[in-house]
Amino acid sequence: MSNKESLSGKVALITGASRGIGKEIALELSKLSAEVFINYSSSDEKADEVVSTIKNNGGKAHKLKFDVSKEESVSLAFDEIIKINGSIDILVNNAGITRDGLLMRMKSEQWDEVLNTNLKGVFLCTKYASKFMMKKRSGTIVNISSVVGIIGNPGQANYSAAKAGVIGFTKTCAKEFASRGIQVNAIAPGFIETEMTEKLNTEEIVKAIPLKRLGSCSQIAQLVSFLVSSDAGSYITGQTISIDGGMSI
Ligand code: NAD
Repeated sequence: MSNKESLSGKVALITGASRGIGKEIALELSKLSAEVFINYSSSDEKADEVVSTIKNNGGKAHKLKFDVSKEESVSLAFDEIIKINGSIDILVNNAGITRDGLLMRMKSEQWDEVLNTNLKGVFLCTKYASKFMMKKRSGTIVNISSVVGIIGNPGQANYSAAKAGVIGFTKTCAKEFASRGIQVNAIAPGFIETEMTEKLNTEEIVKAIPLKRLGSCSQIAQLVSFLVSSDAGSYITGQTISIDGGMSI
């Protein structure tokens, strides 16, 4: 997409950025000169690789291990970002997990784990980031939802509830924050080639996609970049943008 402005001087936190979609978003925003914080929950090695790639390309990056679902760890992480940079300009709530199973067999733990990471995590990171964005009277938040939050999917009651929740949450935050110059949008990807989807039967999935192919992490990253860095993106708020090969039509 064209007309992107430099993000030089801007600080971005991307949750779940050690691999998959989050990693690609971090690489894309750093290409536009944003200073990026790479959040992750487990693999130090993978987070280090992302940080090294960005630094080797002349960018600024930091790894920041914390669990988005735990308020204490989110609070400490924001203290760290503010200590290093004094502010935060862009938040991408991308961290997410699946614990699939048909509803009749779904355990409360599966429900809680997914809701805590995929919905409560978005609430907590948004709450802490918006505190600093409000003071600055500017900021951009992008929440990664899913096509499944719009159309549902058997075996994913927990995941679809969380991702649908993210869409409602996005609209409310957009209304609450608009007068302070903060935009909040959601992106609803369809099936994207990542470690999350590699265990699935892609042949069957492709049949349900009008464009007959999976999407790529880079396509999602480019859409995030459009929302946070283009002039057109600066006039969009409260929206959920589907990028799913037509699955949600
Ligand atoms: P992934 O499994 O490859 O990566 C997930 C990332 O989230 C990892 O970096 C992991 O460390 C991090 N994470 C998990 N739990 C965390 C926690 N509690 N605290 C902090 N970090 C945590 O996933 P992906 O496929 O790249 O998906 C990224 C996002 O996009 C997720 O929100 C997912 O639901 C959404 N999404 C993915 C697809 C797809 O097809 N892959 C489709 C629609 C939406």
